Amino acid sequence: MGVNLTPAMRQFLEVKEKYRDCIIFFRMGDFYEMFFEDAVTASKVLEITLTSRNKGKEDSVPLCGVPFHSAAPYISRLVEKGFKVAICEQVEDPREAKGIVKREVVKVVTPGLLTEPENLSAKENHFLAAVALHDGTHGLAFLDLSTGEFRVTEAADRDLFLQEVSSLDFREVLLSEELKNSGFVRALSARIDFSIMNFLPPGYFANGAEPGPALLDQIDASGSPAAFAAARAVYLYARETQMTELGHLNRVEWLRGGDFMAVDEKAKRNLELFETMRDGKREGSLFKIIDDTITAMGGRRLRWWLNYPLLDEAKINERLAAVSELKRKHILRADLRGLLKRVYDVERLGARVSMGIANARDLVALRDSLLALPAVKESIRELESPLGRKILSSIDELPETARLISEAIADDPLPTLREGGIIREGYDGELDRLISLSRDGKKYIAALEEKERRETGIQPLKVGYNSVFGYYIEVTKLNSSLVPPHYVRKQTLVNAERYITQELKEYEDAVLGAETKRKEREYDLFVKVRAQAAAEIRRIQKTASAIADLDSVQSLAEVAEMNNYCCPVVDDSDVIEIRDGRHPVIEKMKMAEGFVPNDLLLDREANRFLIITGPNMAGKSTYIRQVALIVVMAQMGSFVPASQARVGTVDRVFTRVGAADNLARGQSTFMVEMSEMADILKNATGKSLILLDEVGRGTSTFDGLSIAWAVAEHVHDKEKLGARTMFATHYHQLTDLALTREGIKNYSIAVREWGGKIIFLRKIVEGGTSRSYGIQVARLAGVPQEIIDRASGILRNLESGELDGMGMPKIAALNKKDAGREGQLNLFISDEEFVIRELRGLDLMRTAPLDALNLIGEWKEKLEKGKKS
Ligand code: ADP
Ligand code: MG
Repeated sequence: MGVNLTPAMRQFLEVKEKYRDCIIFFRMGDFYEMFFEDAVTASKVLEITLTSRNKGKEDSVPLCGVPFHSAAPYISRLVEKGFKVAICEQVEDPREAKGIVKREVVKVVTPGLLTEPENLSAKENHFLAAVALHDGTHGLAFLDLSTGEFRVTEAADRDLFLQEVSSLDFREVLLSEELKNSGFVRALSARIDFSIMNFLPPGYFANGAEPGPALLDQIDASGSPAAFAAARAVYLYARETQMTELGHLNRVEWLRGGDFMAVDEKAKRNLELFETMRDGKREGSLFKIIDDTITAMGGRRLRWWLNYPLLDEAKINERLAAVSELKRKHILRADLRGLLKRVYDVERLGARVSMGIANARDLVALRDSLLALPAVKESIRELESPLGRKILSSIDELPETARLISEAIADDPLPTLREGGIIREGYDGELDRLISLSRDGKKYIAALEEKERRETGIQPLKVGYNSVFGYYIEVTKLNSSLVPPHYVRKQTLVNAERYITQELKEYEDAVLGAETKRKEREYDLFVKVRAQAAAEIRRIQKTASAIADLDSVQSLAEVAEMNNYCCPVVDDSDVIEIRDGRHPVIEKMKMAEGFVPNDLLLDREANRFLIITGPNMAGKSTYIRQVALIVVMAQMGSFVPASQARVGTVDRVFTRVGAADNLARGQSTFMVEMSEMADILKNATGKSLILLDEVGRGTSTFDGLSIAWAVAEHVHDKEKLGARTMFATHYHQLTDLALTREGIKNYSIAVREWGGKIIFLRKIVEGGTSRSYGIQVARLAGVPQEIIDRASGILRNLESGELDGMGMPKIAALNKKDAGREGQLNLFISDEEFVIRELRGLDLMRTAPLDALNLIGEWKEKLEKGKKS
C-alpha cells in the first residue's frame, strides 16, 4: 500500500487521519463509499456487500457503499450502534475541478448529537453530556442539540453526582482522556454503559487563553470551574461536529440540587416512573398514565417535570393552581386541546432553522404553528392563575415571521432545496422572470414540434429530451428521406434518427439556462428567508417553552379529571396524609375485585416509621409505592389519585425494592441489597422518604432479620436520621420493634381466612400480622396437599425455635412424624367447619337448583377426602 495509491485513496487517507474515530462516508458521485476497516465494520453492521477496489490485485482495498440520496437510514443505524460517522462531501463541482475533486468533512454525526426527526423520538429529549472534575468538585453539562436545551450542574459529593449522571438517559458522555483509568470512571461505568463514554483531549475541558464562546459567559468560570469545563467541552464538541451556526444554543440553565426533589435512577426504575421494571415497557409506567400532552414539546416538558419534581412549595403550588384552573374550566380546556393539535414541534423546528438545516417544509410547519397561536392565546385569555398568565404573556405569535414564510415559501414545497419548487411565485421579480422564461421556452418547444410537422410534412415527428444532448427531433426511418437539409443528425436508433436544429438549440439554452438559474435563485432566496427566521430564534424558543408548559398543565388537568384525582395540599410540613389513596397504574388494570383505596399517615413524630406486614400478594408493595408515587406526583405539580392528600415536601425518595435485576452486573443479590442500604443510610436526610421493601431477603433468615432490625432502628432514630419510612416486610417478627421504640407503627394488610383459603381484603389496618400466610398462598397456587401438610409441620417447628448453632433452621433434622395434619389444623379450619360455613353463607334465594346440586357434590367430596387422610 502507499506508493500505488490513487489520488482519491490518498485523499481518503488524509481525511481518515483527521477523523480516526469516525467511519468516513466518502462521497464519490452518487454514492458514499467506505474503505478499509470502515468498510469491513460498516458492511457488517449495515448488512451490505463488502467488495474491493482492484479486486484480486495486491493493492486491493476493501470497499462498500450506499447511495447518497438514501444514506440517512444507514447513518442512523451506525450511530445507533454507537459509531460516529463523518460525512465527507465533494465541495466543488466535479466539472470544474482541476485534477481530483476537493472533498471536505461537512458534519460528524455522533450518537449524542442528532437533529433529524427520524432519529429522534418526538416526546423525548436526546442528551449529550460532559463530565468534568475540578478540585474534587464534579461538573456536569448536557445538551439536547435538537432543541437547544443546555443545562449545567455541580456537585461535591461523588455518589450524588453519579446518581445524577445515571438518572438521565444520556446517549454519549464526554470525558477528559486524563480520566480514562481513574477510579471515577470505574465508578461511573458501574452506573452507565462504558460504550457511551467518549474520551477527548484535555484541551476541550481546559479554559484556554482565547475568549470562549459567548454562551459560556453565562457560567462563572472561576466560581464554578467544574461546570464551566464540562459546558465548554459540550459546546466545543457540538460546534466541531456540526460545523454550522448554533444560534439556538443561547441559554445555559443551572440545575441546582436544592431546587428539585432527587429521584435517582434506582427509584425511577423501582417506582416505574417511565418504564416497567420487568420488561422496560412504557405501557404500565406512571408517565404513560399522566401523559395526555398533545404537542411534542409538551410531552418533553412533562417528562422533564416528572424527572425533576420540585422542592419549593410556592413553585409547586403555582403549578397546581394552574392545573386546578384548567381542570375547572373544562370547555376552555377542550378548545385548547383542539387548537394545540395545530402546533407542530416549534422548538425543534426553530433549532433546525437556526442551524441552517431546515427545509421548506420545516418552514411551512413553523408558519402553520405560528398561525395557530393567536387562537391558542385567545382561548386562554381568561386564565387567572399566575402561571396561566405567565404562559399567556410568553406566547409570541411572531406575525412578521409567519407573514414572511407565507409570502416567500410555496404552498406544497419540495423537500429538497436545490431542485426548485420551494419559493412562491410573485415573491421575487427576478425569479418570476426566470420561471416564465423557462415555462415559455417549454411552450415554445411544444409549438415548434407542430411547426416542424407542418413544414416537413412528417406526421410522426416528435420533439424529445435526453440528458446527453438535450432537445432533439426524432423522425422514424421510414420518413428520413423527407428530412430537410438544415437538420443535423445526432443519433441513429433501430427505427429512428434523432436530429437537432439551430433554432431548437437556441431555445434550449434559454429554457435550460433559465431552469438552472431558477433553481439557484430559489435556493438563495430560501436561505435568506431561513436566516431571517433564524434571527428570531429567541422569540421562537420562548414561545415553544410557553406552549410546552401550557400543554403539560392541560395534560395534568385532563388526566386529573379523567382519573378522578384530587388536588394535594403541598406544604413544607413533615406530614404526609392520604385519604383513599390509590396506585395510579394498578388502579387502571382490569381487576375483578376493583382497586381498594387506602389511607396513610406519615410524619416525623409518632408515625415516622411504618412497618407493613401481610402475606405475599396482599398488596404491601403496591401500598408503599402508591404513597411514593403520590408524593412525586404532588411535587411535580400534578393532582393525585386520592380523595384527599396533604404532602409535606420530600427532598428525596429512596427505594430498596425487590432483588431481581442486578445480577447481570455480577453482584450477588445480597451485596446489591446491602450497598443500596448503605447508600440510603449515607445520603438520606430527615426530609427524605424511604421505601424499604423486603430488605434482608437475599440472605439467610436470621442475617436478614437482624440487618433489617438494625437498619430500622437507625433510620427511625431522630438523632441519627428520623426520615419518614415505610418498611414492607414478611419478617413479622419485626412488628416487635413497635413495642420497644416510639415513632414506629405497625400496619398490616387485612386478610380473611375462608375455608382454608385466604381472601385478600387489600385494606390496610393498624397492627401487625403474626403470620406470613406463605403456606396458604402456596395452597392457593396449587401446590399439592401433601407438600402443604409437610410445610405446615416444618413451619410449626421453626416457630418454636429449632435452630442450629449457626442460626440456620434444622430443617433436615425434622422427622416426619412432627409434621402433617396436626400443624395444618392450627392454621386452617377443618373441612367440616368449612362446609358448615359455606352452607351458612349460602343464599338459597339466589342459588339455581343445578348450582346447589354441584355445591353439595363438592362438599361431599371434601368430607370424604378428609376422612381418608
Ligand atoms: P405484596 O407486596 O404484598 O406481595 P403486591 O403489592 O405485589 O403484594 O400486590 C399483589 C397484587 O395485588 C397486585 O399486583 C395487584 O394486582 C393486587 N393489589 C395490590 N393492592 C391492591 C389494592 N389496593 N386493590 C386491589 N388490588 C390490589
Ligand atoms: Mg411485595
